[in-house]
Amino acid sequence: MQILGFNKLTLLDYPEHVGSTIFTGGCNFRCPFCQNGDLVLNPETVEPFSLDEVLKTLKERVGRVEGVCITGGEPTLQPDLIPFISEVKALGLKVKLDTNGYRPDVLSEILNQKLVDYVAMDIKNSKEKYGKTVGIAHFDTAPIEHSVNMLMQSSIDYEFRTTVVKELHDKNDFAAIGEWIKGAPKYFLQGYVESDNVLCKGFSAYEKDELESFRELLLKYIKHVEIRGL
Ligand code: SF4
Repeated sequence: MQILGFNKLTLLDYPEHVGSTIFTGGCNFRCPFCQNGDLVLNPETVEPFSLDEVLKTLKERVGRVEGVCITGGEPTLQPDLIPFISEVKALGLKVKLDTNGYRPDVLSEILNQKLVDYVAMDIKNSKEKYGKTVGIAHFDTAPIEHSVNMLMQSSIDYEFRTTVVKELHDKNDFAAIGEWIKGAPKYFLQGYVESDNVLCKGFSAYEKDELESFRELLLKYIKHVEIRGL
């Protein structure tokens, strides 16, 4: 595991639990609004954490921490992700996996073995605008669709979520996303926030009332839609 970030205590990354967060290096997408520029573009410039040290610290914190959020970068690119999750689970901790859904083979193994307690998968945009939104020309959405279907058929607790960027998303995209993931239990809209580490500067966020209008539109398709982070 290439662990490039370790936040020992978070109340934000694991819903309803006190957690720790692990950030893995590298990503197969290049979302221009990504906030983890260093982890995605230059993982070799970030000082890695020792796997043994991370596991030792987690072990010491059992009782104070309930779960571990594994995020990135894109965690499913790590060749030893599954054994790592197994080690964390063996400590008695819950595991939440954040993923962009582009490795359905890895996700399938994780779901089949019931290795995680919660999955948060990004829906970057409507299928039509997926490539533009993830920064890849001629993008094939088939792996994403496969992951969406797997999660919707699984018994594992999960959410879909979208970082909403004014220059990339509009009302029609949310209608298309609503049709696509109709019947999903939970969907979160996360307003874009500019930072120094963003891949491409110059994007902007919608106002709260505009996000609220997208939420209302999505409620036609999904029971629980929330705006996160406002
Ligand atoms: S936003 Fe997520 S999926 Fe997109 S480039 Fe950044 S880490 Fe990868």
